[in-house]
Amino acid sequence: MNIHEYQAKELLEKYGVAVPKGIAAMSVDEAVKAAEELQAGGTSLFVVKAQIHAGGRGAGHFKGAADDKGGVRLCKSIDDVRAAAEAMMGNILVTKQTGPEGKEVQRLYVTDGVDISKEYYCSLLLDRATAKVTFMVSTEGGMDIEEVAETHPEKIVKVAIDPVGGITKADAEKLADALKLTGAAKQSAIPFFENLYKCYMELDASIVEINPMILAGDEVMALDAKFNFDDNALFRHPDIVALRDESEEDENEKIAADNELSYVRLDGNIGCMVNGAGLAMATMDIIKLYGGEPANFLDVGGGATAERVTVAFKIILSDPNVKGILVNIFGGIMKCDVIAEGVIAAAKEVNLSVPLVVRLEGTNVDKGKALMASSGLPIIPADNLDDAAKKVVEATKRAQAAA
Ligand code: ADP
Ligand code: MG
Repeated sequence: MNIHEYQAKELLEKYGVAVPKGIAAMSVDEAVKAAEELQAGGTSLFVVKAQIHAGGRGAGHFKGAADDKGGVRLCKSIDDVRAAAEAMMGNILVTKQTGPEGKEVQRLYVTDGVDISKEYYCSLLLDRATAKVTFMVSTEGGMDIEEVAETHPEKIVKVAIDPVGGITKADAEKLADALKLTGAAKQSAIPFFENLYKCYMELDASIVEINPMILAGDEVMALDAKFNFDDNALFRHPDIVALRDESEEDENEKIAADNELSYVRLDGNIGCMVNGAGLAMATMDIIKLYGGEPANFLDVGGGATAERVTVAFKIILSDPNVKGILVNIFGGIMKCDVIAEGVIAAAKEVNLSVPLVVRLEGTNVDKGKALMASSGLPIIPADNLDDAAKKVVEATKRAQAAA
């Protein structure tokens, strides 16, 4: 589960991790009021930040806006704050992480403008290779950390924390040294790392990413904050569950979860319906091998019923990018004829308008194939995974070209 930046900062503050002052706003008027409140406390430079569950806001742009000002704006006056809030609220912010459809901004965060002397990167995550919670820090903060990892991996320093002893002063010093912090700045960084670790552990986070962590004068602060929580531990954190913003979650992913389907939306145009996570991964790989791009990962599970197959179909088709579908089912627990019936019913119900390639294998496969052949639907049968992938890539390319 993800939360907004302003919520993340409230959590950090509770744990003694320094953040700039800031107030969340649900409307333009609230944003102006927030700025006035900050001004009364001595603030003269404001930053208005769009709150969406995606990063890259600073370098993003608003759909349909004449300028390419992003979702993080420095404001010198209350009037500027109003203008920035008006430009953001209710509009669609497109960033590298939102995909081309962007996200509607429904919340804002008005915060102190900080005089930054240097930006760093700092994150905490569970490193599965060492089974230890690990800090990753870099002097190359503020920018695309994936790019740093690719071009200058030596500029990312990892410090693994002992799971029994927890973070030590030596760990925190090592992190500060990696960032070349000295003197008072180093003394400020030590509790920053210690408290961040405590926050991560106590809240059962799976990732905390501070990008940038900054130096202002001699003080280290979190200027941006992203949290991801371990869903399996949410039951013991009702206060965090309360921070959930369902409007930020993918509608289809919610429907899928309610129907016990594992669905993850992707950027391609070939919808996939597969049973079993391993087979789903293999299906996606082979689609890519033949030059196609999967539109989703979708595992209907071992005991998929006709109803679940229908829901899965509807989810796939509600994605406007989908120009072809591949159904790849291995009938083990489920018999192929039952699956075929489900696919036929679903295809009829949703008024299938894109090419559908079906590959069935397993129990009662001949019965299943016969049912599909006599269904009257333009189903393209495939004999094996290789054949299926080739056919769906080809059919989708044709459909895309015709569209
Ligand atoms: P995102 O990662 O979504 O683009 P950030 O919060 O990291 O959003 O902001 C992007 C950039 O904007 C930061 O790297 C920083 O340079 C600047 N910035 C953000 N918040 C502030 C602030 N309170 N004061 C000054 N600059 C800021
Ligand atoms: Mg950031």
